[in-house]
Amino acid sequence: MQNHPSYISTRGDAPSLNFADTTMTGLARDGGLYVPESWPQFSTEELREMRSLSYVELAVRVMSPFTASSLDEDELRILCTAAYGRFSHDAVTPLVQLDGQNWLMELFHGPTLAFKDVALQLLGELFGHFLQKNPKKLTIVGATSGDTGSAAIDGVAGRDNVEIFMLHPHGRISEVQRRQMTTILAPNVHNIAIEGSFDDAQAMVKRIFNDGDVTGTLNISAVNSINWARLLAQIVYYFYAALRLGGPDRKVAFSVPTGNFGDVFAGYAAAQMGLPIERLIVATNINDILYRALKNGDYSTSTVTPTDAPSMDIQVSSNFERLLFDLEGRDGATTSARMKWFEKMNKMVLSSDMRSKAALFQPARTDANEMQSTMLWAYEHYGQIIDPHTAIALHAARHSGIESGVPLVTLATAHPAKFRDAVEKSTGIRPSLPKRIGNLFDREERLTILPNEYEAVRDFILKTADQG
Ligand SMILES: *Cc1c(COP(=O)(O)O)cnc(C)c1O
Repeated sequence: MQNHPSYISTRGDAPSLNFADTTMTGLARDGGLYVPESWPQFSTEELREMRSLSYVELAVRVMSPFTASSLDEDELRILCTAAYGRFSHDAVTPLVQLDGQNWLMELFHGPTLAFKDVALQLLGELFGHFLQKNPKKLTIVGATSGDTGSAAIDGVAGRDNVEIFMLHPHGRISEVQRRQMTTILAPNVHNIAIEGSFDDAQAMVKRIFNDGDVTGTLNISAVNSINWARLLAQIVYYFYAALRLGGPDRKVAFSVPTGNFGDVFAGYAAAQMGLPIERLIVATNINDILYRALKNGDYSTSTVTPTDAPSMDIQVSSNFERLLFDLEGRDGATTSARMKWFEKMNKMVLSSDMRSKAALFQPARTDANEMQSTMLWAYEHYGQIIDPHTAIALHAARHSGIESGVPLVTLATAHPAKFRDAVEKSTGIRPSLPKRIGNLFDREERLTILPNEYEAVRDFILKTADQG
C-alpha cells in the first residue's frame, strides 16, 4: 500500500489529476476516462489484518490509497460514516448463503434500493466536501437506464452549489424507478425524459461534455459510472465478501449482472490490488455485446431490446474502455485510436491475445426464460425473492462450471420490489416496498419530456441551469 496514484486518461491526451479533480470532472477532456496511474497493492498479510474491519473501516482502508492526494483518512472516514449510515442493514452489504457454494451479496439496502447507492451516497458526500472547500457551482448531467438516476438524485438533492439534470428513456424504466426520481421535488433536481433509448440519452450526455457552448458556461460533472469515484466505492464490497469467505487464503468468484461494465470493473480493480479472485462472471441478458466481445472478440453494437432487467439493456458499455486501456498495455494513443474507430464504425475486434489477457472474466448470457426460472428456483429452494438482474447473474453462476470448492458470490444488485411486476410474473409473489420508501405512489411527480434531439436537450439545460 505504498503508492498514492494520480489519475490519467485512457486516451492519453488530458492532464493527469488528483482525486478531487478527477471526482469533480468525470469525463477527461480528450474524451477518455480517468484511471489510476497504477494500482495500489495490498500484501497477503495486510489483507488478513483487514478481515475484522467493519464495512466503514474497510472502506477507509481500501479507498485511502486512492484518495490520499485530496483527503486525509479522518476526512474519508467522516464521509464514509455519513454515506453508509444511510443503509438499512448494519453490515451495509450483507451476504446470504444459498447452498454449499452459492451466496448472494445484497447490495440494495441503500435509500433507493439498488447497488448504485453504495457509490452514489459516497459521491454525494464527496461533492459536498470538495465544494465546501472550494466553493463553486456544479452542474451534474447524467443519463440513466433506471437505477443510477434515483441514486444520484438521492445523493445530491437539496445540497448547496450542486444542480442535477438526469436524462432517462421515456417509458422504458419501471414505474418505481421513475417515481423514485420524479417525486424528488428539490429545486436543484431536473428530470428529463427523452423520447429515445438509454443509449441515445447516454450519447447526448457524452456530447454535452464535449460541447464548448455548455462547458464554456457551466461547470459540468458526471455521476455515471464513467466517474472514477463511483467505481472506487464499489471496489470495497469485493474485499468485504472475499475476506468473509476465506480470502485471502482462499480464492472467491463473483457473478455480476452487467450493463455499463462499471460494477464488474470494480471487481477487476480489486484483483489488480492483490485480492485473490478466481473468476468474474460477466452476466449479460440478451443485450449481449460484452458476452460476444469476451467470448469471440466481436464488440459490435446492435439495437437494444427492452427486457425485464432494464439496467442491463445497454449496447455500448462505457467502462469497457477502462479494460481496453489495460489490455492495450495502458497505451493511451492506441486506446484512443481504437475508441475513435469504434465510435465511427460501431464495432471493433478484440484479438485473441487481448482476450487471453482478460481471462479473469468469464462471459455469460441469460435469456428471459432462464431469468424467470431462476427467480422461481431461488424462491422454491431457498425462499429468496430476487430481482431480474440478480436472477440473470445467479443463472450464470449456477451454470459457470466453477469448481465447487470456490465460493461463488452473486451480486444482488436491486431490491425485488423495484421490479415487482417482473418478480410477480415469475414467482407469483408481489414483493412490497420497504417501509422506508413510504408513499411513493401517492407523491407528486415532476419531469420534462423532450424529443430525441441533441439541441433540444442542450438548450433546455442551458436555459434552466442556475449559472451562479
Ligand atoms: C446499474 C445496474 C446494473 C449494471 O451495473 P453496471 O455497473 O452498469 O455494469 C445491474 N443491475 C442493477 C440493478 C443496476 O442498477
